[in-house]
Amino acid sequence: MIILEYVPMAVVFALGLIFGSFANVVIYRLPRRLSIIRPRSFCPACQKTIPWWGNIPLFSYIFLRARCVFCRSPISPRYFFVELFMAVLFLAAYLTVGWSWKLLFLFYLNFALVAIFFIDMEFRIIPDWFTLPGILFGLAYAFLNPEVGWRDGLIGLAAGGGGLLLLAYLGEFFFKKESMGGGDVKMAAMLGGFLGWQKLVLLFFLASLTAVLTFFAIRLFRPKALADRLIPFGPFLVFAALVAYFWGGRLISLYTERFLAIR
Ligand SMILES: [Zn+2]
Repeated sequence: MIILEYVPMAVVFALGLIFGSFANVVIYRLPRRLSIIRPRSFCPACQKTIPWWGNIPLFSYIFLRARCVFCRSPISPRYFFVELFMAVLFLAAYLTVGWSWKLLFLFYLNFALVAIFFIDMEFRIIPDWFTLPGILFGLAYAFLNPEVGWRDGLIGLAAGGGGLLLLAYLGEFFFKKESMGGGDVKMAAMLGGFLGWQKLVLLFFLASLTAVLTFFAIRLFRPKALADRLIPFGPFLVFAALVAYFWGGRLISLYTERFLAIR
């Protein structure tokens, strides 16, 4: 039965929606120093507890037309997109590694990346809450996974932290503006452990390239936006990490075959 092959995919997708819903809670509460566990989900405008049917991932947002059940104040589209992104990433992780122990590590990585993306965008911080356990998980992942290996994982961790310090220094030198902090350094160390140093090189290249392009695009079209706001580097690291994880191997072999003629 071909349809049975879709059952695990649907299960993983649904799990992604649930974790996406939880990520929304974390994204809202962690930077505001509120408890993650209590109280139950509430409307930020009227503070009323949201009933269970107002908390169903994706559907509630659509059926309530992006408004609070009680006070009708608008709900940020972030809630919808976090749930959708998380489910898609969980599914992509399952399709990449299948039912294996690696999936648990990838679920953690995906959860951390999505949460970091939105928290750093809004608050300019990358909480240790994700990166410190992430460094341990990244290293454990490299140790257990022969495709990465403990040596490449350790080098990746050191190169991630060190490389980002260098990038932070260069960024400050060129843009006369501090755009990276300790959170970015810890995040890069975490990603170095997960990816190994080879994919980390690709990650730094992609993150820097997209950050520089975005910087010039903003300077060209919205120069005022640069004056009063720092550009967080975390979202670029998230984007680059996902590309490096899911397509890194193929991109690296394409590059070495085409341009370096190494086979
Ligand atoms: Zn409300």
